[in-house]
Amino acid sequence: MPLKRISLIVPCFNEAEGLEELYRTVVASLKPLEGRADFELWLVDDGSRDGSLEVMRRLRGQDSRVHYLSLSRNFGKEAAMLAGLEACGGDVVVVLDADLQDPPSLIPTMFELLESGEWDCVAARRRTRTGESPLRSLAARLFYRLMSRLSRFPMEDGMRDFRMMTRTVVDAILSVKEVNRFSKGIFCWIGYRVKWLDYDNVERSHGKSKWSLWSLFKYGMEGIVSFSVIPLYLACLVGALACFAAMALCIKTLIKTLCFGEPVAGYTTILVCMTFFCGLQFLLTGIVGLYVSKVYMEVKRRPLYLIKEKE
Ligand code: UDP
Ligand code: MG
Repeated sequence: MPLKRISLIVPCFNEAEGLEELYRTVVASLKPLEGRADFELWLVDDGSRDGSLEVMRRLRGQDSRVHYLSLSRNFGKEAAMLAGLEACGGDVVVVLDADLQDPPSLIPTMFELLESGEWDCVAARRRTRTGESPLRSLAARLFYRLMSRLSRFPMEDGMRDFRMMTRTVVDAILSVKEVNRFSKGIFCWIGYRVKWLDYDNVERSHGKSKWSLWSLFKYGMEGIVSFSVIPLYLACLVGALACFAAMALCIKTLIKTLCFGEPVAGYTTILVCMTFFCGLQFLLTGIVGLYVSKVYMEVKRRPLYLIKEKE
């Protein structure tokens, strides 16, 4: 049987401390597949400022299976992942984090499942969220529930970018040309036969997460705006309800004044209504603005990343 090539894509932003360990773990984890599959490790340096690139060059010098791409600045994980997917040439492709939170020991199992021919993609899903702040866990849970409701396809709670895909699936992902890339959504949107592998959360091997609560919020909004226009429908609905409420109030006041001669009072009511509707207008304009901003980014068609060095 011909040897299959597994491409491993690792986006790295300031991960110098852990790259050697990642390399050793990957080599050890893929030992059981020797004779059936070889691998290439694509380290994508996403504008790191901590010497990650030097470590990558060193690893490349030691082992020709290691490749690296260095982006001209920090473009974000999505862009780094895409750069890796576009550069690699494997028959099957794995995306994993540099901090060993995506255990490479799962790769042989993923490979077996893919080789069975029953699946096109084997994706990892965290069963637990130990070591994560309760606020972050709660926000993530709510987000996945909301996303599943808003988009037409289910999004699994605890899903990660960590997955092994056949070439067909990778090509499908690359055929999605949008600039605002929310990969977790794209992975689900393309469909194909996905096998979920549950595992317990692993804490970072070194350093700390690059995500603040604010960046997670922005990422979440990105996801919703990229995959659903329901917020726009909701905006219309809220606007319509507000109009009905205003009309009802108007009719009630007219009846009270004309039929019962009650004077029109209600300085407070006017003030409350005005501030409420002003706020509502800003909110709804903001929602529309989010979509307009996405359209703006899409029409500009800027490249999603620029490569400074490639080996
Ligand atoms: N990462 C990246 N660019 C960024 C932020 C993160 O390439 O701008 C990489 C990071 O080096 C890691 C992966 O994306 O390999 C996941 O990042 P992190 O561990 O901070 O996220 P978390 O696991 O907390 O979701
Ligand atoms: Mg991590």
